[in-house]
Amino acid sequence: DEPLLSVTKFEELNLDPNLLKGIYEMGFTTPSKIQAKALPLLIKTPPQNMIGQSQSGTGKTAAFVLTMLSRIDSNLKAPQALCLAPSRELARQIMAEVKKMAKFTSVTTAEAIRDSNANTRMEKNRGDAYKEAQLIVGTPGTVYDLIKRRYLDQRHIKIFVLDEADNMLDQQGLATYKEPVRAFAGRFAPNANEFSLKVEELSVKGIKQFYMDCKNEEHKLTVLNELYSLLTIGQSIIFVEKRITADEIAKRMTEIGHKVINLHGGLSTTERDEVMDGFRKGSAKVLIATNVIARGIDILQVNLVINFDIPIKRNTKGGNEPDYETYLHRIGRTGRFGREGIAINLVSDETSWKILQEIANFYERGIEKININDGWDSV
Ligand code: ADP
Ligand code: MG
Repeated sequence: DEPLLSVTKFEELNLDPNLLKGIYEMGFTTPSKIQAKALPLLIKTPPQNMIGQSQSGTGKTAAFVLTMLSRIDSNLKAPQALCLAPSRELARQIMAEVKKMAKFTSVTTAEAIRDSNANTRMEKNRGDAYKEAQLIVGTPGTVYDLIKRRYLDQRHIKIFVLDEADNMLDQQGLATYKEPVRAFAGRFAPNANEFSLKVEELSVKGIKQFYMDCKNEEHKLTVLNELYSLLTIGQSIIFVEKRITADEIAKRMTEIGHKVINLHGGLSTTERDEVMDGFRKGSAKVLIATNVIARGIDILQVNLVINFDIPIKRNTKGGNEPDYETYLHRIGRTGRFGREGIAINLVSDETSWKILQEIANFYERGIEKININDGWDSV
């Protein structure tokens, strides 16, 4: 097949003018690299499968949202496009992007994510919200539930998007680019056009990576508080492995007067939404989070990510090994769309130090040591 040339302008895609208007109102003037390459294939050709992989923060969402919107038949009031995302936070973020882009069109949408009254609500409305929605974004569990109850009519769905697909297809914690996930994706989306960048190109450019030596777990808390008293930071995310650590950090930072918010799977759905919405609006500068939001979340003002704990996972032999993908996804919450960002890793023992070295080697990026007394202007 002759590949179409990549586009340099959104106009070249012959979009519905109302859709183009939405794009411009979002402040998008020119397509990003991945958009320029993928959109001609996704929009200008007969429907075909696509597997796309690119650095975080490069605009994959807009690429698939635009594709969904441009392929919806406005006269057919039934679900035609379905998008799944691994967390409610990401599903809501995608829906927000859908709504902005679709602002001047007549496309109808519905979110399929759990809320605390989901069961009663579903029974009461018998899935009414999903009958006429042309575009649905949701999490796998809720969408599955809707389908089981026959509340979601699948007959007219012609475009299906899996965001963070490697994560969703991966049951055993396989790496993003490893063969089994690839093979599965190939079965899922046969004869797909593939955009895949090399490992080193996937690692995040524009993000400076550092580590700080700490004596022990307790010392990490001290260092963290010192850091925040020194730095004037836009917004930042502190990643931890366990909820209990998140709670402890929140308590300690609040005690000395920092305004922080804390997001983890132990909160109710309403609380989770409030935390994310508040952080997006800038009501708190520091978000403490477990891996629930490591993937996909896009907040442009975040210019610092701190790994309070280095991401580690259990291997098949029961030992610990670096969780390379989680590391990449976490630090990718900063440095969005070509912006600069900083990632700081707190290291408190031999194991976490070794794991971090392995991560640095894997991505072939230096992770420099810094001290609390260093001149922070240079960072
Ligand atoms: P990815 O999914 O590839 O990690 P996102 O889709 O979350 O990245 O996009 C990252 C940021 O870039 C978002 O804030 C989005 O609004 C912005 N963005 C996407 N496309 C464009 C564009 N063409 N011009 C300007 N900003 C864009
Ligand atoms: Mg994304």
